[in-house]
Amino acid sequence: MNRSSHLTDLEEQYGAHNYHPLPVVIAEGEGAWVTDTEGNRYLDWLAAYSAVNFGHRHPRLTAAAHAQLDRITLASRAFRTDALGPFLEGLAGLCGKDAVLPMNTGAEAVETAVKAARKWGYERKGIAANRARIAVFDGNFHGRTTTIVGFSSDPGSREGFGPFDGGFDSVPYGDIDALAAVVGPDTAAVLLEPVQGEAGVIVPPAGWLAEVRRLCDERNVLMIADEIQSGLGRTGHTFACDREDVKPDVYLLGKALGGGIVPLSAVACDREVMDVFTPGTHGSTFGGNPLAAAVGTEVVAMLATGEWQQRARDLGRYLEGALVRLDRSRVDDIRVCGLWAGVDLADTAPPAREVCERLLRLGVLAKETHRRTVRIAPPLVIEPEEIDRGVAALAEAIG
Ligand code: PLP
Repeated sequence: MNRSSHLTDLEEQYGAHNYHPLPVVIAEGEGAWVTDTEGNRYLDWLAAYSAVNFGHRHPRLTAAAHAQLDRITLASRAFRTDALGPFLEGLAGLCGKDAVLPMNTGAEAVETAVKAARKWGYERKGIAANRARIAVFDGNFHGRTTTIVGFSSDPGSREGFGPFDGGFDSVPYGDIDALAAVVGPDTAAVLLEPVQGEAGVIVPPAGWLAEVRRLCDERNVLMIADEIQSGLGRTGHTFACDREDVKPDVYLLGKALGGGIVPLSAVACDREVMDVFTPGTHGSTFGGNPLAAAVGTEVVAMLATGEWQQRARDLGRYLEGALVRLDRSRVDDIRVCGLWAGVDLADTAPPAREVCERLLRLGVLAKETHRRTVRIAPPLVIEPEEIDRGVAALAEAIG
């Protein structure tokens, strides 16, 4: 038995079967490339769901992590550390917000925002106790906790995990009239993804984010943008909301914030919202730990120059130019937003899973989302020739 079969068997025997990985066992990564246990190299077209936006083991990020590893990695928030303040200041500046609350995973940032919005609703908006509601959107993906899957429209995410705590109203994504119809006096917040990533890189109609902003202002409702997948460079902007010059009240960040090295998420908002949290009302043992803060500080510094955002815009245009040459009889739709694309396969093409298996054999790692969509989200360090190589493999895989 070769090494990868043995390692696959170990995962299958001792792991929970809550994922269906492609048959590859990755041992190393550098830039836009990974290497498996047999020494085969693959172009990474997923970037760990955009957590590896800066490429695998970016030298600036590994240097920041190494330097911090040699000093202190965890102290808990029972004490202050010299790494946290600079991270909070840097990220607040990047977001244009007063304050930042660090957590670890994306789902925790979403949970934190749900708590903040409800408490803001009771204390600042005057919603009666336990009546606060949050508007969300069909096709959303905000994580896997019980509160979050409770408002998912994906049966596979929800079924068997109830009872759910309620308080959420889901309406069609991109439909301002449907949103306006559910936002009432008890609505504390609207929670949205400015581009729905897991749904297949669904870009809302032009102007919709600005309309949501206006509605939230009119009705005294918080606009919460889950930028966990869309933020930090992916769409060619620091935030996907920037595409329409929209400033939400609350940003949720994760994934790339940890540089592909550590789990790091955050909620960024102004004091009026953040100060609903007082000592003892929220926290996390690992949230804001020095190792994560050191990496996060470097991520923020890298994004501050705008070079990564520019690169995503340029490479995104290049990717789009290559994708439009795909055989249109095998493709129903192509959506590109920065260096991020969803390719919906036609019935004439194999199912997305099979296309991803073929891509793997051709040396490209991509992951299907739903049955007919291949998502493309390479690390932003990818070069144009590598994009050509990936698209050529995709053309072959759908043929
Ligand atoms: N929000 C969005 C938009 C996401 O895409 C994801 C993960 O894919 C999450 C939240 C959850 O993040 P995590 O898996 O780190 O909990």
